Amino acid sequence: MEIAAAIQRRGLLFVLSSPSGAGKSTIAQMLLSTDDGIAMSVSATTRPMRPGETDGVDYHFVTDAGFDRMVAGGEFLEWAHVFGHRYGTLKREVMKVIEGGRDVLLDIDWQGTQQLKQVDPDIVRVFILPPSTEELERRLRHRGTDSEEVIARRMDRAASEISHWAEYDYVLINNDAEKCRELVHNILKAERLKATRRVFLHDFVRGLIG
Ligand code: 5GP
Repeated sequence: MEIAAAIQRRGLLFVLSSPSGAGKSTIAQMLLSTDDGIAMSVSATTRPMRPGETDGVDYHFVTDAGFDRMVAGGEFLEWAHVFGHRYGTLKREVMKVIEGGRDVLLDIDWQGTQQLKQVDPDIVRVFILPPSTEELERRLRHRGTDSEEVIARRMDRAASEISHWAEYDYVLINNDAEKCRELVHNILKAERLKATRRVFLHDFVRGLIG
């Protein structure tokens, strides 16, 4: 099946973006464990694997040359440079989830979201903001023993990602991970009920009113 047709007929593309440090990964994991109807698209990346990560689960870790081949082969729905590495959403990952009858959760940045919107105007875009600059900085520091320079660079990147907040359909402030998860889940549930996504209703309603 052609990818655009497959997306339109069944699954929803549900995008979560945020600066790192806003709690997006936690919320994504909580959402996946509370809703069986949505699964993650595993992206490809050229960035090195971090301790605790698994190839094929967190990302498909590829070399620069491998990434080039995937781009040339038309394997991506979107891809972008993020923090000096390349990241991309694979068509086959999205198809796998959609063909399994589920919606697709995409943890991608603002550049990928813009590209995806061109491929499928029906995507749902959610942006998560940190509660404050102080809290964002605390979370970025909390991650390890990085130098002030590294922290400052992370804050700059966060500011640049945040500057795209208004391009999203929904914007949440993450004061509390569980509350934020619940709101994200509410958005997902409401989006699933949109009349335009429920093509089968035409037959159902015809049966009701003749
Ligand atoms: P990290 O290296 O910390 O896992 O991710 C860095 C950033 O890359 C995150 O903001 C994440 O949303 C973004 N990212 C991850 N996968 C993709 C992708 O497939 N496409 C795009 N455009 N961004 C991605």
